[in-house]
Amino acid sequence: MDKTQSTSYIKHFTSYLSTRQTSKSVLYICNMIFSSTLLENAVNEFAKLPGIGKKTALRLVLHLLKKNVEDVANFSEAIVKMREEINFCTRCHNISDKQSCNICADRARRQHMICVVESIRDVIAIESTQQYNGLYHVLGGIISPLDGIGPDQLQIDSLIKRVDDENTEELIFALSPNIQGDTTIFYISKKIKKQPIKITTIARGIAFGGELEYADEMTLARSISNRIPVENYVGNKL
Ligand SMILES: [Zn+2]
Repeated sequence: MDKTQSTSYIKHFTSYLSTRQTSKSVLYICNMIFSSTLLENAVNEFAKLPGIGKKTALRLVLHLLKKNVEDVANFSEAIVKMREEINFCTRCHNISDKQSCNICADRARRQHMICVVESIRDVIAIESTQQYNGLYHVLGGIISPLDGIGPDQLQIDSLIKRVDDENTEELIFALSPNIQGDTTIFYISKKIKKQPIKITTIARGIAFGGELEYADEMTLARSISNRIPVENYVGNKL
């Protein structure tokens, strides 16, 4: 085999391999072949969950297959019961088993302080810190015109009404530090501008354990302009 023939052979073989690899991976990703329609249906349902791909869905379903029927029945019953019976607190829109959530029902909490958050996950995150002892208001998102989310689609009117009805003294915004979050804070603040109320946002700055040189300019600038006295640095429980 001369040099020209050899080069041509290598090119041809490389091309063949890449074609084979591509078709194999496409087949693997798109066409998961099932021997059971029941199994396939279950995998497809799991794969609809956020962050769950087909491979993970299959692993979860096969795990359930190893369990006894009673365990799987308890699993599915818990999910159906949760979906059918769960409520949203009529006061703060947090998830609740009753009309009023445990946080709103707790009279030991500061009733005139409301922390405004985007979602129920934020309530869980803040509660996990055990540093906040007021109430919450779950907006259900933030104003984002590009995503078609306007003030009317959020629990903003009920917040304004709450501030009036409950004689709120402080509103703490704990929203995402981005344009949409700032827009939401600005919109709500304007709406309640005439109220004698203290409006604050959670501090934004360098993450604990982070290094200054890796912080972006906006974060660093906000950290400097929103500096706090050292005596307040070590957490005072609200
Ligand atoms: Zn509540």
